[in-house]
Amino acid sequence: MKLSNSIKFFTCVSALFLMSCNSSKEKVASKEKVVKNQTIEKPNILVILCDDLGYSDVGFNGAKDIITPALDQLADNGTIFTSAYVTHPFCGPSRASLMTGLYPHKIGAQFNLPPNSGETIKKGISVDEPFISKVLNETGYRTGIIGKWHLGSNPEFHPNVRGFDDFFGFLGGGHNYFPEQYNAAYKKQKESGKKLIWDYLHPIEHNGKNVDETEYLTDAFSREAVRFIDDASKTKDPFFLYLAYNAPHTPLEAKPEDEALFTHIKDKKRRTYAAMVYAVDRGVKKIVASLKESGQFDNTLIVFMSDNGGKTTSGATNYPLKEGKGSVYEGGFRVPMFFHWPNVVPAGKKYDFNVSAIDVYPTFARLSGAKIPEGKRLDGKNMWDNFMLNRDSHKDESIYVLRHRNGFSDVGIRNNEWKAVKAYRQKWKLFNVNDDISEKFDLSDKYPAILKNLVTQAEIWSKSHIQPLWWHDEKTGIQWKADKMPRFDKTFKLN
Ligand code: CA
Repeated sequence: MKLSNSIKFFTCVSALFLMSCNSSKEKVASKEKVVKNQTIEKPNILVILCDDLGYSDVGFNGAKDIITPALDQLADNGTIFTSAYVTHPFCGPSRASLMTGLYPHKIGAQFNLPPNSGETIKKGISVDEPFISKVLNETGYRTGIIGKWHLGSNPEFHPNVRGFDDFFGFLGGGHNYFPEQYNAAYKKQKESGKKLIWDYLHPIEHNGKNVDETEYLTDAFSREAVRFIDDASKTKDPFFLYLAYNAPHTPLEAKPEDEALFTHIKDKKRRTYAAMVYAVDRGVKKIVASLKESGQFDNTLIVFMSDNGGKTTSGATNYPLKEGKGSVYEGGFRVPMFFHWPNVVPAGKKYDFNVSAIDVYPTFARLSGAKIPEGKRLDGKNMWDNFMLNRDSHKDESIYVLRHRNGFSDVGIRNNEWKAVKAYRQKWKLFNVNDDISEKFDLSDKYPAILKNLVTQAEIWSKSHIQPLWWHDEKTGIQWKADKMPRFDKTFKLN
């Protein structure tokens, strides 16, 4: 078995993770050297991304009314990240960061692409930015994306030209779930001669060709993930699968049999939402079974996360985090996340240090041994070695979130235990989120120097931003120009 050495090594590091408190400094330094110099056999990488999943809407993060047994089992046998951030509190910009390793503002992707962007503005993430899929593909990985894309619908931005061998899903920002319903609506509008049909209703595609999908969408994506894994396991190459479920994003549509499991939830939206999350979990159970049957389970790193916070007006809960999707408070961009890799990733542990979605790119490059293209800019860092040693990859470093609104911008800055927030044109606030995870007690008057330092850092960071290359609608773009946005002179002014 070519993997036995690396697995033995990682078992040793896992033990270190447990005993690090008792180890002498010399021992730790020596282990650190081993970790950093270790050549890792290429693991399969499976990213399971949910869409608008709330921080506490999975069992492993405290959900009491939603059951997610398959995800919980993986989380319990892996390491849960309690302080994982995405770079933006809504879909498109967050996904752009996962693929590019950059803050979305740096590449003009700080807004969602508008609906039907392939037929209207024909824009997408610049092809000059090599995606992690491309980097992994070029180092010998078989690459697949199943589900939601949202990074450009025009042919030049299609997943198949961005490093993915296989694409099954849809190109826009969301989709309806029941094929008998969305196919009929699409057909009716097409026959009526309507030119622009909402992309939530478009046929599902496989590598550029429309397919006649008949299953509930979440089930279709799980089925295709199993197909991809089965096919990939027949080759000698490792695989990278980006399984981007659109669940539990709106529209709230669940199978009646799933919803029947949640009759204890009185709120209709919450009940449907819970059933949609459960449908993902049913799929994950099948995917785990296929990984085991094909002999790939022990050599697969599974990364589970959400692309942004849950939408509390659509059934989600981010408790104990404040607010949700769209917000720069913790509920908007701190997400549920775990790593699972048998005998490698420590089991039954929590990793409490800050990590960001921009770390994913360099971390996957490290694990795959891929060469990062020359001149490639990266905002995050390889977190693997520090993760394995239970150390902080971002000590004293700020993790940012910045969301533009009409005429002003909201900003969140996380650094060690601190969080600075500017939201809704209010004054800057400061929280110690280790003591006050719900951001209730503003400490800005008590620690003005800490706040000033964080705001100064964010202002320096903001100088790397470029103007948006698109807006989610025309009106917002017109308003942006009229307001002379981003008006950072106002944003970073301290009260
Ligand atoms: Ca989302």
